Amino acid sequence: MGKTVAVIGAGIAGPAAVLALVEAAGLTGGRAGDQAGLQVLWVAPPPEAGHDPVGETLAPAANPILARLGLSDAMAAAGHRVSHTTLSSWGGDQLLDRNAILHLEGPGLVLDRARFEADLRRHAEAVASRVFATRVSDAGAGDGAWHLTLEDGETLTADAVVDASGRGSVVARRAAERHRADQLVAAHAFLPHRDDSVEPTRAVLIEAVETGWWYAALRPDGMLSVAYFTDPDLLGETPTRDLAAWTALVAGTRHIGRWIEDAGFALDAPPSLSSAGTTWLVPPAGRVDGAPWMAAGDCAAAFDPLSSHGMTTALWAGARAGSVLSTALEGDDTALEAYARSVLDGVAGFLAQRRAMYAQERRFADAPFWRRRQSAN
Ligand SMILES: Cc1cc2nc3c(=O)[nH]c(=O)nc-3n(C[C@H](O)[C@H](O)[C@H](O)COP(=O)(O)OP(=O)(O)OC[C@H]3O[C@@H](n4cnc5c(N)ncnc54)[C@H](O)[C@@H]3O)c2cc1C
Repeated sequence: MGKTVAVIGAGIAGPAAVLALVEAAGLTGGRAGDQAGLQVLWVAPPPEAGHDPVGETLAPAANPILARLGLSDAMAAAGHRVSHTTLSSWGGDQLLDRNAILHLEGPGLVLDRARFEADLRRHAEAVASRVFATRVSDAGAGDGAWHLTLEDGETLTADAVVDASGRGSVVARRAAERHRADQLVAAHAFLPHRDDSVEPTRAVLIEAVETGWWYAALRPDGMLSVAYFTDPDLLGETPTRDLAAWTALVAGTRHIGRWIEDAGFALDAPPSLSSAGTTWLVPPAGRVDGAPWMAAGDCAAAFDPLSSHGMTTALWAGARAGSVLSTALEGDDTALEAYARSVLDGVAGFLAQRRAMYAQERRFADAPFWRRRQSAN
């Protein structure tokens, strides 16, 4: 009898999981359920109007995964640009070329992130058995299957679930415990370029400050993506509501403010706020009432963006869904357990790396933001 897998989420991990499941079912084209006895149901909320996702640095480790998912041509045609240089003021006042610290795998791409997500969506939509352009509102397992209720009232039954719903973990949070290493938040904005007489630099810029750190990257569309990472109690409420407070924060930096001003970018609106802390689920995969589930991407483990590998990890996890769930659906949990171990090993490795990175900044060692990052987890 055919099996059904529900994939939840349409960011990075969700479409990667759809593509991987279809591939594991042995299809080279067409819709999954028609030919292979595997139905892939994709709950894929449409992007909100004006959706302009933050986070554009893609590590080179993503390239082989994208190739395996059949996305190399889409990547080449999309106008993403190679990121050659990262300059950072981290551990010292000077701006230095520090690729080795901040991009352990070498240079990557600066994405047109909205285009990247749209390309992923288009490819996954073409092969999913059914696409539900809505959200999951409730979920539970019983009688050896998952039962999902959608926001439009429809109910779905699936033999297995991939939860790729991001930090909200709509299904997996019912089966696992969330752990958190910190409360990091990001205040981020995209700045328009207002001075045609200046060609903005293409380097990515990182700057550590007493209360956190800043990031600036020139997007392929010419906007400057700027983000300030700090803890909620150190940010206060005003910068995200008050342009003058945001402008004053930027002006308090040594490099970022000058970079913005000299290149002719306009600070024309207060920033948006996102969670950016390191969190993970234990376990990140398993069974409930006999029905397998796996969390993928930020749902399983979300990392401090200093690593710049959130998207790559999401692609990796989604791409594992095919082999993990096709064997679990046959009653063999070896791959499911190995996946769970890999995620948790990755978290442990990341926490050690994160501590080492923050320890390199000694100028502010006694300030709360930096002291909090020297603890054991
Ligand atoms: C400020 C900031 C900067 C970042 N910069 C970078 C960077 O430069 N490089 C990098 O690699 N990573 C970066 N990241 C991390 C990266 O954005 C994430 O790791 C990545 O988006 C994870 O992808 P995902 O598919 O797991 O989750 P998401 O991209 O969050 O996608 C989740 C999906 O689930 C859907 N969803 C949510 N709830 C439901 C529901 N109830 N039912 C159905 N669907 C649901 C959402 O609509 C969305 O489609 C950054 C993160 C932040 C916060």
